[in-house]
Amino acid sequence: MKQILNFINGAYVAGQAGKTFKNINPVDGSLIGMVSEAGQPEIDAAVAAARAALEGPWGKMSIAQRVDLLYGVANGITRRFDDFLEAEIADTGKPHHLASHLDIPRGAANFKIFADVVKNVPNEFFEMTTPDNKTALNYALRRPKGVVAVICPWNLPLLLMTWKVGPALACGNAVVVKPSEETPSTAALLGEVMNEVGIPAGVYNVVHGFGPGSAGEFLTTHPGVNAITFTGETRTGSAILRAAADGIKATSMELGGKNPAIVFADADMDAVMVGLKRSVFENTGQVCLGTERVYVERKIFDKVVQRLKEVAETLKPGHPNDHDADFGPLISQEHREKVMSYYQQAKEQGATVVTGGGVPKMPKELEGGSWVEPTVWTGLPETSSIVQQEIFGPCCHVTPFDTEDEAVRMANATPYGLAASVYSSDINRAHRVAARLEVGLCWVNSWFLRDLRTPFGGSKMSGIGREGGVHSLEFYTELRNVCVKLLD
Ligand code: NAD
Repeated sequence: MKQILNFINGAYVAGQAGKTFKNINPVDGSLIGMVSEAGQPEIDAAVAAARAALEGPWGKMSIAQRVDLLYGVANGITRRFDDFLEAEIADTGKPHHLASHLDIPRGAANFKIFADVVKNVPNEFFEMTTPDNKTALNYALRRPKGVVAVICPWNLPLLLMTWKVGPALACGNAVVVKPSEETPSTAALLGEVMNEVGIPAGVYNVVHGFGPGSAGEFLTTHPGVNAITFTGETRTGSAILRAAADGIKATSMELGGKNPAIVFADADMDAVMVGLKRSVFENTGQVCLGTERVYVERKIFDKVVQRLKEVAETLKPGHPNDHDADFGPLISQEHREKVMSYYQQAKEQGATVVTGGGVPKMPKELEGGSWVEPTVWTGLPETSSIVQQEIFGPCCHVTPFDTEDEAVRMANATPYGLAASVYSSDINRAHRVAARLEVGLCWVNSWFLRDLRTPFGGSKMSGIGREGGVHSLEFYTELRNVCVKLLD
């Protein structure tokens, strides 16, 4: 039986209390292995190891040395591509082609991009005249924040974890990572790469467990943690913000979304369907940036609904290694229950179920997996739970609109503000609408095109702060101003 251990101070260790939990394969419900849960002693040890690393060789390294090591980590992930791929697929059940094109390559790229950012960032400098008419020079040093807690979700485990660990380490911090209890494997495996490439012990630590009363809470309330970077549900984010308040810890919050797509009648229909197929259904709808609300100009409403139905019905569920399979299961039976409860609510609230709404018929060996059908609804009021709440499944509700103002008003009318897509051939309208949408990211005629140098994050209840490129430096470093008076 596979054992997944905590990684503390460069070594794999079991929790002292001997508590373990199951790591389940969502494809068929089989047991992948047992995960060792970290308790307070392991969190204390991980934070102490991180602190010691900052005070030891890691803290004394030049930027050039750190950059070399981070390139080494990226290359190390690429060298062990198949190991990461296998672990990620087993934990998430996502199709092989998705994990091999997105999750693992981006996991490696996240180290290179932030190594480059840190290497190239200019510093602030101001020359001033002093009251006694002399000169003083001001310059700002970027110093690491210290020990950074990295708390991660399960939907893109390696990609989202390294999106935080990459910049944190590039800026000279040490990290304690708490991966999702659903997907502990790739974070644990990364410890081997860290050791192989010579990252000093204590710089990268991994503790496994849950949120309240477990590793997540112990970490976010730990007095030795200087900053918390979190990706996950809005409700969890607010619990973590409360925990962070006591210790005045810096926080970065990448939270949930209920993202709209707005389709104008002049849009290129192929671009619309390529975009919606991915944004609604990719990763079985478990993407924070995914579309769950589609607003379509009334004159093409029926046509878009029909095309969406056709797309949804051609998608084939299947085993990750089945190259014809378009989508995998949801992450767990628990998450399936949540998504199915929304499928049920939609019916009860009087939705027209255009397609889906149930569980697909699977071959016997996959019947134990957490499968759901791709689903499209119409006909619900904008106030319904289906239109207002994040479902995080392969589904969307489609609403017609008559004017640009009406589309913008409906798109903005949820508490969330993560991402949006606008489809139109009218360039002026596209720019106008993008500027009016209350979101952190807006795509035009596309979805999920990511240049890692650009700001990433949500507005309203979708998050606080921006990461990506130089924006990550704002979170992972402390600016220290040095003022030097030049004496005669
Ligand atoms: P989640 O909030 O349930 O869990 C995320 C992590 O927080 C897990 O590691 C969990 O163990 C931990 N946690 C839970 N309670 C905690 C507590 N009280 N203290 C400390 N840690 C705690 O989220 P999830 O279900 O794993 O992920 C799906 C959610 O993540 C969706 O809402 C999705 O929109 C969001 N998400 C957002 C982004 C983004 O960039 N904005 C990206 C991916 C996912």
